Amino acid sequence: MICPGTFFRALTIATISWTQTAIPAQQTPSARTVLVDGRILTMDGQDQIVSALAMHDDRILAVGTDNEIRKFVGANTDVIELGGRMVIPGIIAAHCHAVGVARNVLRQPHVELLSIAEVQAWIHQRAKSVPAGEWIRVPRADITRLKERRHPTTEELDAGSSTHPVIFTAARKAALNSRGLDAIGVRQPRPSVPDGQVIVDSDGRIRLISGANAHLRNLIPSESHSREQIQVALQNVHRHYNAVGITSIFERAGGIDDFLQYRELHAAGKLSVRMTQTFRSGFRSAKDVAAYTDKLGMTTGDGDDWVRVGPLKITADGGIHWGNTYLREAYGEDRIRFYVHRDPGYRGDLNYSIPQMTEIFREGHRLGWQWCCHVTGDAGVDAVLDSLAAVHRDHEDIATRRFSLTHAYFPALDSIARAKKLGVCVDTQPSLYFKDSAAIAEVYGRDWAARFIGLGDWIRGGVPTAIAGDHMMGLDPNRSMNAYNPFLMLQVAVTRRNREDNVYGEHQQISRLQALKCLTTNPAYLSFEEDTKGSLEPGKLADLVILDRDYLQCPEDEIASISVERCMVGGRSVFVRR
Ligand SMILES: [Zn+2]
Repeated sequence: MICPGTFFRALTIATISWTQTAIPAQQTPSARTVLVDGRILTMDGQDQIVSALAMHDDRILAVGTDNEIRKFVGANTDVIELGGRMVIPGIIAAHCHAVGVARNVLRQPHVELLSIAEVQAWIHQRAKSVPAGEWIRVPRADITRLKERRHPTTEELDAGSSTHPVIFTAARKAALNSRGLDAIGVRQPRPSVPDGQVIVDSDGRIRLISGANAHLRNLIPSESHSREQIQVALQNVHRHYNAVGITSIFERAGGIDDFLQYRELHAAGKLSVRMTQTFRSGFRSAKDVAAYTDKLGMTTGDGDDWVRVGPLKITADGGIHWGNTYLREAYGEDRIRFYVHRDPGYRGDLNYSIPQMTEIFREGHRLGWQWCCHVTGDAGVDAVLDSLAAVHRDHEDIATRRFSLTHAYFPALDSIARAKKLGVCVDTQPSLYFKDSAAIAEVYGRDWAARFIGLGDWIRGGVPTAIAGDHMMGLDPNRSMNAYNPFLMLQVAVTRRNREDNVYGEHQQISRLQALKCLTTNPAYLSFEEDTKGSLEPGKLADLVILDRDYLQCPEDEIASISVERCMVGGRSVFVRR
């Protein structure tokens, strides 16, 4: 907590600690840039607020009072007068898919669609620019977010366009208009599809296609783009990140080629965010892990301050959008109806047995890698922790490797205690709470909505927690899939108010400082970068954000609309609001 006495209080100027550029005591070097007359929230161990900061090269030289910091002003120093504005450390977005966003944006602009009427209007509009007869793909719109909480019917899609085949995909099932069904060869009276299933309603009308992925892929080609096009689009995604204060990201599911794209951009001086990559692969055995990592020829921590090797990742279970999050209880009638499943005893999908996950984690650990794991359901988390505990019996040091549970939507207190013991961290998504908790309350029940993205539980349990958007599509900070606006996430973390203005689980609210830690110091810890990032202290990277209003004092319901005036990465302005 910040006590009022520390506001604007002078800090003793700490000289930089790295030896090669240490400042001789008698002389004060000139800074390249200084910030003065502000409220600079350092997020250091004491969460101190100072009024001024000096930077040189890509590092912070000193923080302190205006008088102390003005000593660093030389003939070539840029002096930025803050006029009382707040500065926070650069945001570290611990879960995004920026390369995926770039590819997606090249295909078609993403639009957030929240009702079947909006889906129809979008199709209608799109049909004007797509040549007749060519496929129209509706942008991903999950049934948890559509007002009707279901897929559109064939007739509803026909109303959008009868001149183009149209496909709408959600919850691992596709709805098609009449032309679309015809184009993939699904016809009455006995509709069928290779390697899939045609779901019909009680009147025998075709409702959805389940499976048949390869068949659909072959018949509905998707465009591919050159490396150069992807790199240009990726830089644009990064610029959008800078505009909301993001200075570092974790690419949470990349391959070697994505990593090389980043290296190329870095070599060309074209990066405006720092990137730590998570390498995801469908490992099934220790042999797979050994072969994959051998081919990479790198391990966690390799790289530099801009492009860095993060953890390996596997996908342990499903999700709430796909309808296969692995739960401790049976799905029951409501969830089955919602996801259009059959068996009320279904509990979701677990992609690995515990011995198999144990073997995979153990091998990565032996080879020096950190791990993270996509896992959403409470029983999924149990299985991952069981596997980790099995590795821990022979390799206690796995508790020092900062294993991350990615998502862990429904924390249970007993799992939180186990996670804490095993040194496990979490990256989870308040932006999903914002958009999906209404459907969770309706379909899973209010008690599930109260646990959903349970930040209060994680923080009280002492588990290092990062919050991030899991950004996949679109460029709008709030209306993308999923929202990546850090200030929206802060507001949701602090208030637990969702899009419908309801609160589920008040006990999950956290303080403003705790929430900001989840976007700064905690994600720095998740990637072993706490010595260089996450707080504004001498010697650390000069990654910071100037805000248009005071994050600590503005009304709670204004946090999401805080805007960034300037974003700096390594002491360089990468975004300035005009
Ligand atoms: Zn993700």
